[in-house]
Order: sequence, then C-alpha cells, then structure tokens
Amino acid sequence: MAGAHVLGLPRIGAHRELKFALEKFWRKEIDETALTHTGRALRHANWQAQREAGAAAGLDGLDRVTVGDFAWYDHVLSTLAHVGGLPARFGFDAQDLDLDAYFAMARGNAAQPALEMTKWFDTNYHYLVPEYSPATTFGEGVNWLFDEVSEAQALGHPVKAVLVGPLTLLYLGKEKDGLADRLTLLPALLAQYERLLGRLRAQGVAWVQIDEPLFALDLPAAWLAAAAPAYRRLAPLAPRILLTTYFGDVSEHAALLKALPVAGLHLDLARAPQQLATFVDGYPADKVLSCGVVDGRNVWRHDLAGSLALLAPAHAALGDRLWVGSSCSLLHAPVDASLETQLDDELRAWLAFGRQKLDEIAVLRQALTHGVASVQAAFDDTARALAARRSSPRIHNPVVRRKLAGLSEADARRRSDYATRIAAQQAWLKLPLLPTTTIGSFPQTAEIRAARAGFKRKQLTHLDYLEAMRAQIRLAIEKQESYGLDVLVHGEAERNDMVEYFGELLWGYAITENGWVQSYGSRCVKPPVIYGDVYLPEPMTVTWSAYAQSLTSKPVKGMLTGPATMLQWAFVRDDQPRERTALQIALALRDEVLALEKAGVRVIQIDEPALREGLPLRRRDWAEYLDWAVRAFKVASCAVADDTQIHTHMCYSEFHDILPSIAALDADVISIETTRSDMELLDAFEAFDYPNEIGPGVYDIHSPRVPAQAEMERLIEAALARIPAQRLWVNPDCGLKTRDWAQVDPALTAMTAAARAVRARLAAHGQPAAA
Ligand code: GLN
Ligand code: ZN
Repeated sequence: MAGAHVLGLPRIGAHRELKFALEKFWRKEIDETALTHTGRALRHANWQAQREAGAAAGLDGLDRVTVGDFAWYDHVLSTLAHVGGLPARFGFDAQDLDLDAYFAMARGNAAQPALEMTKWFDTNYHYLVPEYSPATTFGEGVNWLFDEVSEAQALGHPVKAVLVGPLTLLYLGKEKDGLADRLTLLPALLAQYERLLGRLRAQGVAWVQIDEPLFALDLPAAWLAAAAPAYRRLAPLAPRILLTTYFGDVSEHAALLKALPVAGLHLDLARAPQQLATFVDGYPADKVLSCGVVDGRNVWRHDLAGSLALLAPAHAALGDRLWVGSSCSLLHAPVDASLETQLDDELRAWLAFGRQKLDEIAVLRQALTHGVASVQAAFDDTARALAARRSSPRIHNPVVRRKLAGLSEADARRRSDYATRIAAQQAWLKLPLLPTTTIGSFPQTAEIRAARAGFKRKQLTHLDYLEAMRAQIRLAIEKQESYGLDVLVHGEAERNDMVEYFGELLWGYAITENGWVQSYGSRCVKPPVIYGDVYLPEPMTVTWSAYAQSLTSKPVKGMLTGPATMLQWAFVRDDQPRERTALQIALALRDEVLALEKAGVRVIQIDEPALREGLPLRRRDWAEYLDWAVRAFKVASCAVADDTQIHTHMCYSEFHDILPSIAALDADVISIETTRSDMELLDAFEAFDYPNEIGPGVYDIHSPRVPAQAEMERLIEAALARIPAQRLWVNPDCGLKTRDWAQVDPALTAMTAAARAVRARLAAHGQPAAA
C-alpha cells in the first residue's frame, strides 16, 4: 500500500484554544499546568484526526502521526531549545528551560528585547530569528520532543517525529557580534542532531521527518556542498529520515538530493508539479518518495482525479515507496471547514481546510493502491463539486472580464508627469513645507469595537451604528485639527481590518467565521477567501470619507488597501493566475478611487504594506511579479485628474531591494516605515534618487512610548540630509489603531511641533515657506 501522511497540522486548535490559553497564561490567569493541559489536548486531537483520516469513507487513517509539529510559540525557537542553541544574551539554560523563560525569548522581558521575527519563507507565518555569534554553542536541551513522542506512543499511535533540519535552522538565523559565517557552526550543531536522532531511535521512532525547505531558495554553493556530508553524518544513527523540501521547485538539486543517504525525499507538488518527472526518473530503489500534492497553503477542495493522473506513473514505478502527503505543513491552512456554518452550502462544498485535507490524502492513497472504484463515491462527489465551482455564475462575472480585456497601457499611466501633477495639486492644497499627515487609522477603542460588534450581532440598528461611527469621525477630525496636522484622515473606525473590511464589501470575496491561521505566537489572522471575479457593486468608503471632508476645510485623505496587499493577505483562487486576480481587484479599486474623487475627496491613499512580501522566493521570478504588482497599483490609481493626489504607504519590510519598483508605482507621495531601523532605509536613498514626495516615519507606532519632539526633529533632519525639503513629508510609521489616545495626543502634538521647528530653521536658512 502506498503511504499517507501530512507534514504537520495547525496547532492553534479549531477554536483557537492555544491562543486563548497562552494569553491567559501570560496574564497569569492560569498556571503552567493548565497551559500544558491545553497543549496536550490539542496534540491528542490532531493525532486522532490523522488516524481517523478517511474514516467516513471506511478507509485506513494516515500511517503515522506527526509528532513535533506542536510548538508553544514557534517551531524554530523550539528547535533551538532542543539543540541548546538559545541566544546567550538571555542567560537561560536550555536544559531546564521553563515556559516563562521560553516566552521571554519570544516576547522580550525587562532586560532583553525579544528575538527578531520574520516571515517563514513566503508564508504569513512569522518565526523567531535565531541569533548566531562567535560565542554560540549547542548542547543538551529541553526534552519536549521526546515527551511528546512518549505521549503519542502511550496512545498507541505509530510515530513520525518532525524536526526543522540543521541546514535550514542555521540558514534562517542571523549572524551577530562579528560572526563571519554561520555555516561554520554546522559541525557543533550536527553533534546535537546526532544526539536527538539517536534518542528518537532509541525511543522506537521508525521515521523522522527533517524539514529542509531552504532548498527552495537561491542557495550559495557552500550551503549546497554542506548537505551531503551533514546527512552522511546523521543518517547512520537516526531513524529512517524523510528529508522534506517545500515551497518550490528543487529539481535543479535532484542529483544531490537523490544521492543523500536518507530513506526518503518529499516534494511540494502543489507548487511545482513539474518536478515530479525529474525525480521519478532514476529514483534510487532504497528510497521513499513523498508526493505533496494536497496544497497546505490554500483552502480549496483538492482535484483528486488530477492528482491521481499525476501520480499514477510514479506509483507504477515506485509502488509502495510512494507516499501521498500535504505539500507542506497544514500550519498555513485553517483547521476545519465543517465549522463554517455561515457560508452557503455551495461555497462550503468548494472548500477543504486542514481536517478535510487529511481525508483527501487518505482517499487519494486508497485510489492509488486499490483503484478509483474503491473510493468512487468520494471521487464522484469531488468531481461534482469541482465541476459546479468551474461553471458557477458566482465565479464568472462578464462585466469584470470585459473590463479586464479592455484595459490599455494608458489605463496604467497618469495623464501627466509628476512635476506637472504636483504643481496642479499644490495649487489647491497649498501645503506648507514638510507637510504633516498620518497613515489612516486612529485608536480602535473599546467603544468602537463594541459598536462594530453590536452592529454585526444586530444589537445596534443601522442608524445607531451610523451615528456612532460619525461621532468617531468627528472626534478624529477635531483632534487632528487641534494637533495642527495638514492632511487629515477619517480614522478608519468602521474597519475591523484593512483587508477584511473590503473583502466584506467586494463581490468575489467570502469571509469565514473560523478560518484562522497562526501568524505568530498567539496571533492569528483570518484571511478572506477570494473565490470569484472581484467586482465593486457600490462605493465602499465614500460615505465615511465624504462625511469627514464635510467637517473641515483641511484636505481629508481617503484610505484604500492596494491590490497586492488585498491579494497577499487573502486565500486566493487557484483557477486563475494571481496576476489576473490582482488586476480584477485593481479595477474595483479604480472605480472606488474615481468615486472618492467625484465626491470631493481628492487626496487618496492606497496602502501596499504587503508589496514586498509578495515577492517570489527565487530572484529569477521577481521581475515578473513586480511587473504585474506595479501595473495593478497603477490601474487602481491612475484614472484620476492631475490635481488629485495619490499617496501610498508601506511598512513591515525592508524595501531596499525594490526601490525602483516602489518608484515605478508613481504615487505622488509615499509614507514608509523607517523609525525602527533608525532611518537606515534612508541610506538606500543615497544610491537611489526617489523621484516623488516621501514621508519616512518619524514616530514608531509599534511601541506605547511617546517620542519627544527633539527626537522627531532629529529624524526629520536626518531625512533632510538625503531628501530635498520640497519633497519631504512628516508622518508616523504606520496607522495608530493599536495605540491609545493618551499616547497619540502628545505624540502627534510633538510631531507637528517638530515639523514646525524644522520649517522655521529652514526658513532662517533661506528656504521658501511653502513646498
Ligand atoms: N491605513 C492603514 C492604517 O492606518 C494602514 C495599515 C498598515 O499599513 N498596516 O491602519
Ligand atoms: Zn503600515
């Protein structure tokens, strides 16, 4: 019989049990025993689900439960705890690490800031970045993995343990304190993997899955060369090793991977099905080939017949040495689609979350081994659902198709160049030098959240809700006028989230109730599902923005989320290229932008914080992505008159390497996060002359700390060293929704005072008072 397994399951629980338990523990409302109970219950439920995969169809479950995919906060930090490689600055001993100490590294404590966090490959999961210095040592660590293995064995489950691989663990870390090359730490690290693997084998674990997704990256030669010796060292002592690659095509490394002394390889065939043939051809007779066909990154029901056709030749060649699996860990998928009671039946029938994906794997294995007839009902049911989805009128919108086909190059270009536009804008805006503004949101107070929730639960009438939001807008406008800001915003009180809000109003988007995915630690996100052609039935923001504009003589900026971000922070349909979906979103935004303009909102910001994170893993694919992402932004933004001012905003990433594309967006003004890196980003402007107006953030809104006026003046001066005063704006790093008014009031008052002080200095040196 062919094998069947998953690379890992979501650990948060169907109802985010882990999140709530963690947060109670951090608030000291429960103790470590209670927290560990929750963790154990979640693991047990996941193991049981793997064993019961396909049970409804009378099938055998998955062969082995995956043990080690659970983590209290992050699997990278947990792996460091296993190999005794914790950052020395905390002074913790990995051997008797308790959960408080573990969380201190994840979240920071009074003495030390937290480990840095960054995106796990091209997912929206964030891992804690290992720190490697000349003083780094590895040694004994926590016993958590061994304990979990015993737990699973005691329940009678056959176990496949999982570990982040040594190469990936090193590669994903940062060199500190002058360490020249973290690869030099490999021998010491391997000694600990030898210990771990030997102990797992002694525990009777038959298989260990070692995740080495780094093979999907642009890898330096030295790292590639290190692979074979490393696994030659580990293999003799270990259980049978299944080396997993995912998130990309690794066929260029096929010869290297096939020659590794491991018992099996795993390929991501959802991302890169074409690589299968390269591997099957001459595949070593002593190895298992795990075929990750069921997509761990999306929410769509799997095309069973398609995968069967893909895998049949491989199965003919490999027989039982073929395993069917998920493309990557299901960590990146929501837990259970059967909990979506608010979605209509038609849409729900198209979806498969983690639980449903387990069944799909079991069914596929059965079909491969015993023929489709043995699972005919499941195949027929899937075929019906997929056919219904393909032909559903909810997916195909002829208006959108027609508009898309009619898009010309001119639609992605402003009528005039920047110099002409900015003159036309300044003619009516009459902004001072160093104009001040904010990024959009103001504090989301308990009152605001209560009003939104009450309206959603129908406890608040539409009228009451409207009035409650209008009161918030009035408050925001009054406050901004009192700070002396130059370009105001309406405050975004009505928005729960910058993507979900628009997802609720656009056609082609669905919002789930429980489709949560871990973002980091206890933080989960609920990406909307884009299932059909995206269409704007009626304006989404005009009422709020126009109301705000009616309250003041200062210009009010309209706020939208850009196409790349709307795409990146959603589950995207798999039946058309991302580019096409992005352009559909762009068309919808284009209509919204025009509606705002017509209503007199003539400064419009289109946020693209996720532009950078949408970059493909391999550099060779960057240009193509940037090309369509930029085009989508321009389609959204370019229909306006010359004197309408388009802003954009970016944060969360380093932008050095995509500055030319950011400039190509041709927004009149960009506000960009810079404070946390102490204006490091500005160095990039030495080499690259940003052509339009720019506001590097001078107020770090991620911290409750209120920056002093002098500090912000210093940052403005630093920016002035690279950016001409005529093109420089003054603004915070990002939206203020997570802050309190008690912080925002003094911070923005100080920010406008800082701008005025620098203006005065410039005037004294003969700069004109207006831009
Ligand atoms: N306009 C949004 C806000 O201010 C931007 C948020 C973001 O960039 N993440 O909240
Ligand atoms: Zn931001």
